[in-house]
Amino acid sequence: MLVDSYKIEEILPCLADPEKIRVIASLSDDASEVMPYINSIIKNAIYIKSANAITIPQGEKLITIHPRKIAITRVDDEKEAKKILDEMLKLINDTYEKRNDIEPNYERREKPKVMDIYKLLPQNNCRKCGELTCLAFAVKITEGKASILRCSKLFQAEFSRKRAQILELLQKAGFEIPSAFR
Ligand code: SF4
Repeated sequence: MLVDSYKIEEILPCLADPEKIRVIASLSDDASEVMPYINSIIKNAIYIKSANAITIPQGEKLITIHPRKIAITRVDDEKEAKKILDEMLKLINDTYEKRNDIEPNYERREKPKVMDIYKLLPQNNCRKCGELTCLAFAVKITEGKASILRCSKLFQAEFSRKRAQILELLQKAGFEIPSAFR
């Protein structure tokens, strides 16, 4: 067994869906070792090598396993969160037990599409991000050459829904999300 238990630390409103919650649980032990093995067996997982974290899309939910915590978005309630956390603990420990039979995969998958990012930007070409157009900014984002925080317009209340959608896109693509954006 690699990780003995989890503890729910935070229950927060879900940014992407106001009727759901986000849950963050701490892990009793370090799950780092098992990440590339989970990346190998879960084909739609997004492995973030630099952070040694893995995001598993499950329906509309995103489950991200970090070395010492698990974060889940779009959860109905605490009961559902516990069910998912139990499944993740089993996944971690079962994969760890079988690791000698699994080829580890250190590759990151999937890059966000420029137009998918662009569609969610304010699209007024205000240049506050330092780029001439929102499209140019979207290109920089997908290439990992600009931080989404540079688009100050996106942080205005009227764009909160689109901001949350960009957050999900970037998470799915394995990008590290600035803490101010969470
Ligand atoms: S700051 Fe945002 S809205 Fe303004 S040009 Fe850049 S991406 Fe577009």
